[in-house]
Amino acid sequence: MLAAMSSAALPPPSRPAPAGRDRDDACPGTLRLHAADDGAVARVRIPGGVLSVRQAEALAAAAGRLGDGDLHLTSRGNVQLRGLREADGPALAELLDGAGLLPSRGHERVRNVVASPLSGLDTDGLRDVRPWLSGLDALLCASEPARALSGRFLFALDDGRGDVASLGADVTVRALPGEGAQLTLAGAGEALGLSAGDVPRAMVAAAETVVAAAREQGTRAWRVSDVPLPAGELLRLVAGRLAAEGLTCAPQPRETTRCAGPAPGAVGGAGGTGRAGGALSVHAPLGRLTALQWRELTRTAARTGGELRLTPWRGVVVPVAGDAAPQAALDALAATGLVTGPGSAWPRVGACIGRPGCAKSHADVRADATAALGELDPRGLPLYWSGCARRCGRPAGEHLDLVAAEGGGYQVTKVSPVTKVSRLPAASPSLSPSPSAHTRSVLLEDPSRLAAALAAFTS
Ligand code: SF4
Repeated sequence: MLAAMSSAALPPPSRPAPAGRDRDDACPGTLRLHAADDGAVARVRIPGGVLSVRQAEALAAAAGRLGDGDLHLTSRGNVQLRGLREADGPALAELLDGAGLLPSRGHERVRNVVASPLSGLDTDGLRDVRPWLSGLDALLCASEPARALSGRFLFALDDGRGDVASLGADVTVRALPGEGAQLTLAGAGEALGLSAGDVPRAMVAAAETVVAAAREQGTRAWRVSDVPLPAGELLRLVAGRLAAEGLTCAPQPRETTRCAGPAPGAVGGAGGTGRAGGALSVHAPLGRLTALQWRELTRTAARTGGELRLTPWRGVVVPVAGDAAPQAALDALAATGLVTGPGSAWPRVGACIGRPGCAKSHADVRADATAALGELDPRGLPLYWSGCARRCGRPAGEHLDLVAAEGGGYQVTKVSPVTKVSRLPAASPSLSPSPSAHTRSVLLEDPSRLAAALAAFTS
């Protein structure tokens, strides 16, 4: 039942001046576990989401021996292990280290890198970003200043198609036609044109510049937006640093074309376009992969090319070399409950962990999201269910934001790219909309009536 609604024309939000942070972030890592209601949580950084079969097997072993057995994908293509015991930290570190998943203990939380998952596997990108990815990771792990980055700071490597460029990363590099690339910072309207060969150095230099600028301002910055300087000024500082290092860069308009992440199914040559190779793409509902699903994915990767790529959209891409039979592999993956083709609404649905894993949650958001799935049109806007107003893991772009209210039900708000989520009204039983929110809200008391609530946004 819908209980409250506001569709008044609200003024656009004014952007508050960033004030910095007075403490370090508390993001979990492999070496620093986070205590949750369902046990300790470890977050394993996987740059670009790229895993070898051996690494995938090591993660499954860690989840099975030490955790709840499942692998939980995050919105940055990383993996969370849940249900651990605090005392399991050393055993976990040893297991992951042995598989090459812990190359630098001092940098383990800062290796947050998303990369176009289909780069090099189809014809939609302008280049294969893998050399950039390995170069960036190596330089990041060698950088002493980069150790001061927060566990939330995000790098994005976009192969030119515009998929991960839309994720609001702190430092984004996007391939341009030819041997060019452009680097930009979150919130900056401009970009810096670069030579493709300079990309890894330029990204690390940009991150180090952000660390230095925050320090200069006497504050900490978890993200670029926390530095109390306009993003354009910060970008000019980066340009100065690159010039000082002998890298050529020039201001240019920021490329803004965007596209969605990979849809479930066969991609490129695997889809029968005649091109050698390609990929299989699957979606894991709510980012949760059971041991069986992970094992089937790992087996598929072992047969088709030896690699898995976790996506920031809670999916997995498995590159397919040559003529490996993609349809049989997709059928086997579908039998485990993964989404392997069009027609499912799951790829548009996300949720935080909610109750019972998080004590702050006002609802079992995953159960509610599952119960309401049949109400959804697969082609609509993305939806994100949160157990409280913190909205952990929410997407960056336009979406419908469902936040569990303390007194029951959900506040549903349409978030547009110009709306800062932190400025949206907190969910509360009274639900009076904030006058600063450029949005409209309804209260959804019964999740099984979701379709009626969503109709309020199209009427
Ligand atoms: S959004 Fe709230 S309920 Fe959900 S995981 Fe974050 S703190 Fe917990």
